[in-house]
Amino acid sequence: MEIQEKLLSINPYSRTGEKLKSVKQIVVHWVGNANTSAIANRNYFESLKDKHIYASSHYIIGLSGEIIRCIPEDEVAYHAGNGTVNRNSIGIEDCHPDWEGKFNDATYNSLVELCADICRRYNLNANNIIRHYDVTGKICPKYYVEHEDAWIQFKKDVANKIGQATSEVTVKEEGSDEPVRKYKNGSTREDIYADTNLTKKIGSLSPYEECDCFGIFNNRPMVRYKVDGTSNYKIGFAKWTGGVK
Ligand SMILES: [Zn+2]
Repeated sequence: MEIQEKLLSINPYSRTGEKLKSVKQIVVHWVGNANTSAIANRNYFESLKDKHIYASSHYIIGLSGEIIRCIPEDEVAYHAGNGTVNRNSIGIEDCHPDWEGKFNDATYNSLVELCADICRRYNLNANNIIRHYDVTGKICPKYYVEHEDAWIQFKKDVANKIGQATSEVTVKEEGSDEPVRKYKNGSTREDIYADTNLTKKIGSLSPYEECDCFGIFNNRPMVRYKVDGTSNYKIGFAKWTGGVK
């Protein structure tokens, strides 16, 4: 794996030089601009110092699988839309040939390799890799938000590369008979599903609704939600692990 070091200049917007607190997660993004190159996106981040926009990421992976480092791994990048996540994660932007947003093989393979390498160096596992979507609900990286199976497969591919059992990927933590945590919904109404593959909708949570959570299964928070218009509660799965408190 070859990494091209093309660091942004220190500036108040895209590279402040603030040190990361820790590396607990890897956040995956799409660049959101079809058929653009890694270096073009890197130069865009560099230009933000003049446009006074806060945005950057540690790495950008291009359409030929090339990897550009924009921010040193021990500094904060501005990619996740959340200060705490930004201070405790490494951000990776990925180029994509079209607006469907699926990464081509070269980009995908470099992403798997880079994630596996970061996981090994910081003692993380594939469950510590999240989508921008899992932090803020933004549709990023688009294809892997719209195709949950492709996202799960990606994490399995990373786990295989690290040499972790794939069974570890699907169960994040043991559940409990008693709700051990809380779940707080984000700013939009979210559907609740009967299954972790999100195939059957059974209810929904209002914006900012808070409920009990029994743990995370197959990367889905199991929640006890209130059935609309009644005082009854049922158990189901929410989409967004970022809501678990
Ligand atoms: Zn993003």
